[in-house]
Amino acid sequence: MPSVKVRFAPSPTGFLHIGSARTALFNWLFARHEQGQFFLRIEDTDKERSKKEFLDEILESLKWLGLDWDGEPVFQSARTAFYRQTAEKLIGKNLAYPEENAVRFRMPKTGKVAFQDLLHGQIEFDLTQHISLAEDLVIFKSDGSPTYNFAVVCDDADMGITHVIRGDDHISNTPKQLPLYEALGFRPPVFCHIPLILGEDRSRMSKRHGATAIREYQEAGCLSEALVNYLSLLGWSPGNNQEIIGRDELIQKFELRRVLKTGAVFNKEKLEWLNGQYVRKLAIPDLTDKLVPYLEKRGYAVSDRAWLERLVLLFQERIFSLAQFPDLAQFFFEDKITYNDEAAKEFLKDGRLAKAFESYAALLEGLGDFNTKTIEEKSRTLMKDLGMSGKEFIHPCRVAVTGRSVSPGFFETVSLLGKEKAVERLRQAAQFVQKKRAEGGI
Ligand code: GLU
Repeated sequence: MPSVKVRFAPSPTGFLHIGSARTALFNWLFARHEQGQFFLRIEDTDKERSKKEFLDEILESLKWLGLDWDGEPVFQSARTAFYRQTAEKLIGKNLAYPEENAVRFRMPKTGKVAFQDLLHGQIEFDLTQHISLAEDLVIFKSDGSPTYNFAVVCDDADMGITHVIRGDDHISNTPKQLPLYEALGFRPPVFCHIPLILGEDRSRMSKRHGATAIREYQEAGCLSEALVNYLSLLGWSPGNNQEIIGRDELIQKFELRRVLKTGAVFNKEKLEWLNGQYVRKLAIPDLTDKLVPYLEKRGYAVSDRAWLERLVLLFQERIFSLAQFPDLAQFFFEDKITYNDEAAKEFLKDGRLAKAFESYAALLEGLGDFNTKTIEEKSRTLMKDLGMSGKEFIHPCRVAVTGRSVSPGFFETVSLLGKEKAVERLRQAAQFVQKKRAEGGI
């Protein structure tokens, strides 16, 4: 058995689509599992549509996903002479012929093209029944560039590819490629056509269903480990309902034969959940490093790293994506907060609040130690003195200092906000309540 050689062959005519990324991942996992090689081939023969920025983005996305390739990428645009020579050989054997400036390959006209697909089993095409197969195949276009089907066969044979793992949408190309292998005297690789990724409505995953570019997932704060884990489960499973599976374990357990034949439905909620699981597992310094760019993008620069790590710890259990963090933690960074309507209504339910906010501001202002424990102890004493329950006191105070009715642990939040902000916001809330009361409600 020759060692496994597979390739991922993107065309740089767009970003890295989530479906292509899954194809790349399955190739990569298979290669790593078999201790074979995973090559990258850039199918850039379409000069008009191929763009450097797409290529850069594809490479960037593959690197971000950790799908490292062996050797240097092969560029089809640099191999025209090789395709030309190969076409000449076919012409020499009268298996192909020039037609104006193009070259056509003489497709067999009768019989069947059959192959054993690793997932789908025997697949047969009756050559007399498929109109698209009846015509002689253009292998060189009149503009001097090779066609997809021809370049792919030349390259897969030349690169010694043992397994072609690609999307189901290429099944119909295989009967065009197999006669070329035969004519060229090459042994065909094993084909494995994997099902497409579908949207919730079971049609092919597209922009309608949500983000399709890997870069969009990256920007939205997906962790690459979580996305790799998620993509691996689209059409494959390690068994025993295991859902969280790290890279090394994936490599160890991945079996191409166990990929499902039917389309896999993309489920955004599941990806979010999985991402949350990976966020929880990160060490705080690591998670902090990953969150800093998202803060910077919002213009939140933080010089106190220890403070930031405490803040990150406070939110680690609450975020599902990195991009959520600046939103959820906004009130720590902005000077001014606004109360949302619902939250502000809470303020007017209890006539004691203006006084409670004032007293609390005074208490916090007088504290020497602004740590969570001290704040909690003193706050509880104040509540007792004011004759208020924890709920009666903490809930409105949370709105006062955060502007929101939901936040992480209150006392830790106050401590992290710092004395100045907490005191100022409580006083602002006291004034707000008095003013609204004077005006006769909200
Ligand atoms: N360039 C083709 C694509 O992006 C590759 C198909 C193949 O793997 O043969 O779909």
